[in-house]
Amino acid sequence: MKTIKVSVVTPDGPVYEADVEMVSTKAESGELGILAGHVPMVAPLQIGAVRLKNGDQTDFVAVNGGFLEVRPDQVTILAQSAEQANEIDLERAKLARERAEQRLNDQKRDNVDIRRAELALQRAVNRVNVSERNV
Ligand code: ATP
Repeated sequence: MKTIKVSVVTPDGPVYEADVEMVSTKAESGELGILAGHVPMVAPLQIGAVRLKNGDQTDFVAVNGGFLEVRPDQVTILAQSAEQANEIDLERAKLARERAEQRLNDQKRDNVDIRRAELALQRAVNRVNVSERNV
């Protein structure tokens, strides 16, 4: 099967680079599956998992939002932060999840803090799920 080159890049540098058969992820508009030869496009991404399939191997990357750019032979994902599944500190993500849940349970917070805590919770839950390959 034809492959497509994938790069996941953050402000700290590249997180993942490979040639894969299929890239699957969630754009703001819904689930995307990209194969070689896909029409060019740009889409904003949700906080979520990117699945990269090559033969019988699938790699998982946790992505904190950002943008996906597709060209026929190349997919580039630009995100504020991203981690490969095996680089995720599961304990850290679980602690971040706990902190965010506690903040959301604290009624005295204003709306800005609530939105911030919701996003922190989404990042933490995504990292836990990707670390456990539960995506
Ligand atoms: P925390 O509260 O644990 O710092 P966060 O969601 O606020 O989590 P980010 O601001 O998204 O963290 O990321 C800051 C940096 O730390 C990024 O380089 C990111 O890849 C890394 N990072 C965050 N959480 C983890 C984790 N659980 N395992 C590995 N790297 C992580």
